[in-house]
Amino acid sequence: MEMLRNGYLFTEIFKKQMEHMEKYPDAKIISLGIGDTTLPMPRLVTTAMQEYSNALSTIEGYRGYGLEQGNMPLRKAIARNIYKNMGFNESEVFISDGAQGDIARIQLMFGSNISIAVQDPTFPAYVDTSMIMGQTRKQAVEYMRCNPEKSFFPELSGVPRTDVIFFCSPNNPTGHAASRRQLEDLVSFATNNGSIIVYDAAYSFFISDDSPKSIFEIPGSKQVAIEISSFSKFAGFTGVRLGWTVIPKELRYSNGYQVIKDFNRIMCTCFNGASSIAQAGGLACLTAEGLQGIRGVMDVYKENARSLVETFSLIGLKVYGGVNSPYAWVHFPGCKSWDVFNEILEKTHVLTVPGCEFGPSGEGFIRVSSFGKRDQIQEACKRLKRLFA
Ligand SMILES: *Cc1c(COP(=O)(O)O)cnc(C)c1O
Repeated sequence: MEMLRNGYLFTEIFKKQMEHMEKYPDAKIISLGIGDTTLPMPRLVTTAMQEYSNALSTIEGYRGYGLEQGNMPLRKAIARNIYKNMGFNESEVFISDGAQGDIARIQLMFGSNISIAVQDPTFPAYVDTSMIMGQTRKQAVEYMRCNPEKSFFPELSGVPRTDVIFFCSPNNPTGHAASRRQLEDLVSFATNNGSIIVYDAAYSFFISDDSPKSIFEIPGSKQVAIEISSFSKFAGFTGVRLGWTVIPKELRYSNGYQVIKDFNRIMCTCFNGASSIAQAGGLACLTAEGLQGIRGVMDVYKENARSLVETFSLIGLKVYGGVNSPYAWVHFPGCKSWDVFNEILEKTHVLTVPGCEFGPSGEGFIRVSSFGKRDQIQEACKRLKRLFA
């Protein structure tokens, strides 16, 4: 555990925020920092949770444990609506209390004796959970550099073989959604190496161009990939907690054993199913009306992202992401991420996230989140323009 960085990144940023508030008690701080949703959910979703919850106080409506793998109607809705025409059966979909927990449970399933590769930069949970699992050999983690010059995709010919490859797309923090061509390369790389891809699609619903929304759009992927996803960012379930993982029955270990059987065992043993109330809400999200409501919320975040990208571009900085993702990734060549973070906070009272915290290649960048209310984002843009004018 001592190999983990001092603390969870957002605890550090929260500390900075507290110090800043003490120093400037009257400042109106705006957070473009932690990726947390801020807009209300569509009424239809909360009504579904309310009705389910009310029924629990009736003799007929009371329910106890559900299936550890999740309620069938929700698993079916995910298999049919989200993975349309990909031939998944509901038994290949496992409902969870969010992607974060599934990342940890997948590590638990693979054990501590594996080698992993991650994008550099990326979401810190993949490496952190593997350290907690006891994966402390330095050479066990391969950082695959993903920089703008290389279209945010690793030079795979230079990446050594690992047992597992964590791949997040659209990536947090860069906001880059991997192209079909890039994902085809990734799948053939994993196939040739006998590696398993753990694909984090938590932001897939933000994709607005023709980039694949799932790794399973790539032929041959069912033999090599697991996909993790979540209601958190697309439906505002960060507090309600609901996610899922898809494990194709075609995915096998090198000895021929089906990975889905192992994961099923983990879910039954270390998890006892997601909240039934949250699952009722999730099911409502996937109705036509629910999806429409959610899209409305996402459109606001996307509009926010456009404003942020425009602001930093006007200042004359190189900005990436923000199109297929709620995050913009801003380059300050020759600067240290934490210095940029501190200067922006000090002079504009705007919180961001230092890019170096997502991996060594993130040095010199900051991540800005568009998960704010419209007026707050506009105010932040105004302050930033003034700072760099
Ligand atoms: C937010 C986030 C998660 C965690 O999602 P939860 O479902 O809320 O646990 C997972 N992966 C990435 C890349 C994220 O940004």
